[in-house]
Parts: sequence; C-alpha cells; structure tokens
Amino acid sequence: MKHLLCIFFLSVLSLNLLAQTDSEKANEYRTQQEAYRKGLLLQQLDSGKLLMENGQYEAADKKFKYVLDNIKSVPSDLTYFFGKNSLYLKKYKQSIDWLTKYIQLKGTAGQYYADATKSLQQAESAYIETRKTETKQIGEVLSRNYDIDCGPGLKVVCPVCKGTTVVKKIGVFGESFKTCTFCDKHGFLSCEDYNKLIRGELQQEVKQ
Ligand SMILES: [Zn+2]
Repeated sequence: MKHLLCIFFLSVLSLNLLAQTDSEKANEYRTQQEAYRKGLLLQQLDSGKLLMENGQYEAADKKFKYVLDNIKSVPSDLTYFFGKNSLYLKKYKQSIDWLTKYIQLKGTAGQYYADATKSLQQAESAYIETRKTETKQIGEVLSRNYDIDCGPGLKVVCPVCKGTTVVKKIGVFGESFKTCTFCDKHGFLSCEDYNKLIRGELQQEVKQ
C-alpha cells in the first residue's frame, strides 16, 4: 500500500511539473511571437524611412500608418518620421502634432532634434498660411490616439510647465505662479501619465 501511494504522489508530482513546463513553453512561445511581430513592424518602419528619403511620401505614409495601427507602443523615432513625412504631404496639423511629440519625448538629446525643430517651424508657418486660405485637411492622424513608448528612461519632461514645476497664470490681479499639478516635484511625468495628459485624461484625475 505504501508503495502504491508513493507511486501515486510521484505521478501527481510529475504531472504538475509537466503542466508547468507546458505553460512556461507557451509563455516563451508567446514572447517569441511578440518579438517576431515587433521585428516585422520595425522592418516596415525602416522601409518607410527609405521611401521617405526617396521622395515617395504617399508610400512612406502607408508604411508608417501600418506600423502605428499594429504596434503595441509607438517607438519615439516613428513620431519624428511620421511628423516629417506629414510635412511633405502638406498635412501640417498632423505634422505639428507628431513633431511636437518627438521633441517633448526626446528633448535636445534626441538624434533628430535639430531637424525636428526646423521641420516643426516650417509646418507651423505653413499651417498658418493654410488657415488664412481656409483649406482644411480632413482625416488627419493625431498622436493622442496612440500609446507612445517614452523610451528607456520612462520619464518625460512635463510639457505643461516645461519641467519648471511652476505654471504662470494671468488673472485680473496680474500674474501669479502656481505649482504645476501634472508632474512630480522634479518636473517629470511618468510615461503612463504623459500618455494620459495628451489624451486630456490626466487633468480629470488630478481634480478628483
Ligand atoms: Zn509640470
């Protein structure tokens, strides 16, 4: 009898172990699949870059949009390339939106900072011009509808107070200064809060 019990426990134990390795394998497989999918999307991003360099802006736009719609978290470099390509396509509002996002995310340390700033200025003046002539762009793709990957630091300089932690208010009695309610005491936002802020969801949270 003792012997039988022993066999019973041993088989239960080995079944458990088997089940465990199975779920581990499933997890591993899922992670591999995700990495593979992300790799394919990054290839699409690269070919979008090439198309843009070759002046095929419509084709590049298709590639970038495909990545935007299928990637879990938008790589910050894509915010620059999509913004820059939007400028070529004369979608100025869209261009301003994504280039601003890139500059907010990467700051002066960003690889494309200089060009992003220059392109942003071009988009802004062109946008003012188009507003004068009242030509409207329809169906522009804006960054607020996407989750942006803030990169390895996972922190972003607060775009509201620009990292100063202080916000200037102009009221009836002149200027006054208030502590910024969006960021931490060092002027930073977590990536999650940053994404909420650009969707206009963070303010509500602070008020509650
Ligand atoms: Zn702030």
